[in-house]
Amino acid sequence: MIIILLGPPGAGKGTIAVEIKKKIDIPVISTGDILRNAIQDGTKLGQEAQDFVNSGKLVPDFLIMKIIENRIIQQDCNHGFIFDGFPRTIHQAQEFDSISHQLKKKIDQVFYFEASHEVIIERLSSRRVCSQCGMIYNLNYNPPRIQGKCDQCGGALIQRDDDQVDTIEKRLKVYQNDTLPLVHYYQGKKLLTTINADQDVQDRFKEVWEKLTELNLVGEN
Ligand code: AMP
Repeated sequence: MIIILLGPPGAGKGTIAVEIKKKIDIPVISTGDILRNAIQDGTKLGQEAQDFVNSGKLVPDFLIMKIIENRIIQQDCNHGFIFDGFPRTIHQAQEFDSISHQLKKKIDQVFYFEASHEVIIERLSSRRVCSQCGMIYNLNYNPPRIQGKCDQCGGALIQRDDDQVDTIEKRLKVYQNDTLPLVHYYQGKKLLTTINADQDVQDRFKEVWEKLTELNLVGEN
């Protein structure tokens, strides 16, 4: 099964990806996480991507496609995967269409998380992530039990560089120009379901799960 989570930064795609994974054991592929890890580890990819990621710009398509091509042929992807943050341009989507065609796989559903500007800004500026395991928190809705520490692994919680207000605005502009056209692209392929992403996690997930059930992609529970 291939599921794509599409939407602006702060729409809660990452949180929903984790919820889906709890129920269906297929990996979440977050290009943002892969890039941040590469930057932290100082790999060649990390060095090439660093300036783009930190300034809120898109990493060039050829680098992203290399990441995707290498990741989806890993064994844990045999039964499918969830894309969080990919594709982000029409060109990436077209490239993935041709890769999946070659691999005889198909996209099952694209969920478009539509969120209002105020909600996005509020969510991103109060988002904290675990520097060790990547678990996502929100200081207002989903705070850690101990301030500054991850509930799961005890790692330090940090604010991403690109979650600073100036960079958030830049990322939203990039999203409007480069990524939003994908809504139309997948609508044309009859693969798109719109989710009201202003809702809390439970309600967002409920809508996603209902759709997956309706499509017979998952069982009832
Ligand atoms: P995210 O964690 O998905 O918000 O991604 C963080 C940053 O990584 C983005 O602002 C981009 O700089 C970069 N990035 C992640 N995914 C992609 C992608 N599919 N195409 C281009 N750049 C990406």
